[in-house]
Amino acid sequence: NDHVLDYPQSPEEMDWSVHYPAYFEAGASRGEKAVEWADVGCGFGGLLMALAPQFPDTLMLGMEIRVSVTQYVADRIAHARQVEATLPAGAPDARPGGMQNVSVIRANSMKHMPNFFAKGQLSKVFFLFPDPHFKTRKQKARIVTTALLAEYAYVLRPGGICYTVTDVKDLHEWMASHLHKHPLFEYIPTEEMAGDPILEAARTATEEGRKVERNGGDKWVACFRRLPDPEDD
Ligand code: SAM
Repeated sequence: NDHVLDYPQSPEEMDWSVHYPAYFEAGASRGEKAVEWADVGCGFGGLLMALAPQFPDTLMLGMEIRVSVTQYVADRIAHARQVEATLPAGAPDARPGGMQNVSVIRANSMKHMPNFFAKGQLSKVFFLFPDPHFKTRKQKARIVTTALLAEYAYVLRPGGICYTVTDVKDLHEWMASHLHKHPLFEYIPTEEMAGDPILEAARTATEEGRKVERNGGDKWVACFRRLPDPEDD
């Protein structure tokens, strides 16, 4: 059922072992590592599939609200893990980390980020080609708003990076202006990010990003760094 969302009351109640069995004991909310990167509205999972073998020591998670799309990504990951597990030891085409560091959950990221993640748990949050909600009366449904930025700032650690990419100029301006205005985020000039393989993947590895590329569309990028909390100074 599309209307029933399953989410923990708090991060301590989250069973991560289902998602990362190589890293968490059965039933555990804590392990040797914690999820550090979240792809919000991950769609079909292209970013995660590209980044997981590149950063095998980082636990990354896709969050997707559509049931069938979440299931598709879960199947994709399960299949990749199975392939890795059946490769002979030292196979040249083996993906580092065996795809054990990537998972997906069905979640409404506009409501439940703090249910899944503790304060400062994340070091990267991605908003890649989010739904534009063009009509003015629907803009409050956009995934980046002032109220929601407070929640994303809460789960992002100081120094963490929020990546936004879109092909819709108006949405780019909306997201960037809200982030610029927010006291806990600082703009990172895109030139400073040049050569960042993560930004490169964020621009090109998602299914939506590929579609925009095929259609020769523009891509608008804006990255922001999470600043320290004022009371920490
Ligand atoms: N990021 C992917 C890409 O670049 O290919 C998907 C882009 S797609 C246009 C936007 C995705 O965000 C959709 O799959 C949609 O179901 C998902 N989404 C929208 N609102 C969401 C929410 N509140 N929480 C989680 N996912 C959401």
